[in-house]
Amino acid sequence: MKRLLLLILMLPAFNIAQTASDELVNPKDFIHDIVIDIRYSTPDHVFRNLPSGNIPLPKFYTANECLMVRSGVEKLKTAQDSLRNIRIHNGTSYPEGIGIKIWDGYRPRAVQYLLFEVYPNPAYVADPNTGSKHNRGGAIDLTLVDLSTGEELVMPTPYDDFSIAASHDYNNLSATQLANRSLLLDIMVNVAGLNFYSAEWWHYEVPGAGSFPLLDFQMK
Ligand SMILES: [Zn+2]
Repeated sequence: MKRLLLLILMLPAFNIAQTASDELVNPKDFIHDIVIDIRYSTPDHVFRNLPSGNIPLPKFYTANECLMVRSGVEKLKTAQDSLRNIRIHNGTSYPEGIGIKIWDGYRPRAVQYLLFEVYPNPAYVADPNTGSKHNRGGAIDLTLVDLSTGEELVMPTPYDDFSIAASHDYNNLSATQLANRSLLLDIMVNVAGLNFYSAEWWHYEVPGAGSFPLLDFQMK
């Protein structure tokens, strides 16, 4: 027992305060119950359905690996700490609270070129010449899940639905869709201090992310 305690004391303290705020880290290393489900690591992503959209995204990603600047992960931690305490929302019970599921974080700039090639619409895919905030490690795409079942909460659209229904201004939705989108927005903006993007309910970013350096290293 004594030896175990000594071992624990000797382990380097791996905590969030020890990394530089602009260093990229994996949210999973700091938020134990966050769900990471990188959609571009699988064939199940929207770009596959577009004409000439069969681009090799999975070769750039690993399903449960995500990177984001440390200052952003600190904000996600604040969000998750708050969501986890919710037991009832919009008349539904969440016995273990609500959590975050991440679909994409840092995105190599090479991927941005591929996405823009098949979908050159800057409202939804940033021009790689100027770069996306995802290419700077400052943006995150996410949704909410029931922590007791892992089920996603019902949102206005699926991920990467490039239609008007993905916009925060679109309100022709069910009461549940509106309540869930509004919970996500409230927690991310008012509790965590992230900025939202009006055209995509799933996209949030660290204030000032536009001035972070563009990155293009590979994750695998
Ligand atoms: Zn995004």
